[in-house]
Amino acid sequence: MRRYLVAGNWKMNTTRESGTQLAQALVAEVPAENPGVEVLVCPPFPYLTSIGDVVNGSGVGFGAQNCYHEAPGAFTGETATEMLTDIGCRSVILGHSERRHILKETDADINLKVKKALASGLQVILCVGELQSEREADQTEAVLDTQMTGGLDGVDASAFDQIVIAYEPVWAIGTGLTATPDQAEAAHQYLRNWLKDKYSAEIADATRILYGGSVKPDNAQELLSQENVDGALVGGASLKPELFIPIIQAAA
Ligand code: PEP
Repeated sequence: MRRYLVAGNWKMNTTRESGTQLAQALVAEVPAENPGVEVLVCPPFPYLTSIGDVVNGSGVGFGAQNCYHEAPGAFTGETATEMLTDIGCRSVILGHSERRHILKETDADINLKVKKALASGLQVILCVGELQSEREADQTEAVLDTQMTGGLDGVDASAFDQIVIAYEPVWAIGTGLTATPDQAEAAHQYLRNWLKDKYSAEIADATRILYGGSVKPDNAQELLSQENVDGALVGGASLKPELFIPIIQAAA
């Protein structure tokens, strides 16, 4: 049985105070022991330590939104995976569409980060997903194949207990448009089959595939009830406890 994962991507939002209040609200609602659902928040880098202190010992974990692939050294402005593990951070989101399309990260860049994060013992949430134009051109599966192949190049089967895939159609991120449950399920099925073909049936069966793209309390239940949807990566709605908590509850 795959355990649901509901992760909040705060992106470049919150202040120290509002982020602390948000984390406190989640800690108050999420049971410390939650076997059915893993809950994670991914605040901006400057607040990772203070949010980590708030969620410490609770049922809420904390992760980063990015990392660099080199060991600590002369890389101005970057963050090493060693720094993340040093502060108790256990996960990192990689390959998010905003990093692919705004910050121009390539599959090769993402792959270096994936391998470094895995080597540091971090859980990697690898995001993949097609643009609207690619969906309209019937290229969704080709794009997912390219991003999975590139992002996971050289990644050994033994690392899969640290890997989560997030299917995030770019046209549904922050737009209010959501993939229909059928569209999400079809893409998730494709990704699970991809894992089966490239790795093994065991890995395909055990790896969690999250859906992301305008998940809200009113669509979470239906998306999460799809056979191959194992949780959600939530952007906008993760900034409001009154929206994020019902999404967590929909997974429970
Ligand atoms: C995201 O940032 O990963 C995301 C899915 O955002 P939103 O929920 O706002 O679409």
